[in-house]
Amino acid sequence: MHFVDLYAQYLSIQAEMDQAMATVIRESAFVRGHYVEEFERQFGAKMGVEHCVSCANGTDAIYIALKALNLQPDDEVITTAHSWISTSETITQAGGRVVFCDTERPYFTIDPQQIEAKITPRTKGIIPVHLFGQPADMDPILEIARRHGLWVIEDCAQAHLARYKGRLVGTMGDAATFSFYPGKNLGAMGDAGALVTQRADIAEFARLYANHGGKGTHKIEGINSRLDGLQAAILSVKLPHLDRWTELRQEVAARYDAWLAAEVPAVTPPARRPDATHVYHLYVIQVDRRDDVRAQLTQAGVPTMLNYPQALPLLPAYARFAHTAADFPVAAAHAQRILSIPIYPEFPSDDQRQVVTALRAATS
Ligand SMILES: *Cc1c(COP(=O)(O)O)cnc(C)c1O
Repeated sequence: MHFVDLYAQYLSIQAEMDQAMATVIRESAFVRGHYVEEFERQFGAKMGVEHCVSCANGTDAIYIALKALNLQPDDEVITTAHSWISTSETITQAGGRVVFCDTERPYFTIDPQQIEAKITPRTKGIIPVHLFGQPADMDPILEIARRHGLWVIEDCAQAHLARYKGRLVGTMGDAATFSFYPGKNLGAMGDAGALVTQRADIAEFARLYANHGGKGTHKIEGINSRLDGLQAAILSVKLPHLDRWTELRQEVAARYDAWLAAEVPAVTPPARRPDATHVYHLYVIQVDRRDDVRAQLTQAGVPTMLNYPQALPLLPAYARFAHTAADFPVAAAHAQRILSIPIYPEFPSDDQRQVVTALRAATS
């Protein structure tokens, strides 16, 4: 059994993929070029946004967005205590100061109720993360940002096509960032990322900054963070399938919801916001004796992951803040009980049965 079977997805579209890759190779359109421009257009259109600027990966997308928003040394940025480290490390890379905020039960996303207490005169923006494929509670976040003159960057790395009150994630903040890492809901065959925005100033800066400040002109110093043609062509082949793949993820999740509720009472399934569409990048359950349950699943041949084993503020990388679990009680408690079980569009239902059976055995 696989946690994610990327080869199964390739096989389902092999002819299209092989042809696209062969064409890029024949044209030697390896870095930027018209395949990259085409994908930017297609992804921007799919999102319904004015501007899409591709880059090398989803981490760079956040970093570039922060530079585009002119983050200055010691500016503070508020972000969630529960995410992959890209969300916070880029704030530091861009010269800013990370200010962590706890998450809200039961959703794993930043708690809007606690944001305002973190705001100081140096606060410049908020980075909510639509974690595991579920939108953060954007309305109160946007309202706080508006009231205090802060910008918002949505980290959409795990949430392609998720919706909040009917709105696509990535369309609500000043800018939004996507990862197309192979295992993400829309994945390349290597690293890839993009920033989307309705703001022409952000798009213009990002385009320059990600490519050495503009090839030939070098209006500013930048970085080398470009999407390559092969990845762009691969993403263009995959994009039209994303709606279907998202539905398949939701079907797998609905089966888990039903089976777990009926057969495995010891497990808490992921809560779904009533006003949102969850795209299930990950299916994250909560269970007591998590490490023991996880070991038994491994024994039974069921691969699992911890996303993530430690709340961000408690990582060694942030020892300088001297945070304790008591500062982030929700995120810290979740880190002890969460367990990601396999989910992907092509996940065979026989394998899924086996996961539920193994979970029942491990928890009874
Ligand atoms: C994957 C991910 C990123 C970074 O994307 P990369 O393409 O791997 O650099 C950022 N934030 C979150 C929440 C992620 O899951």
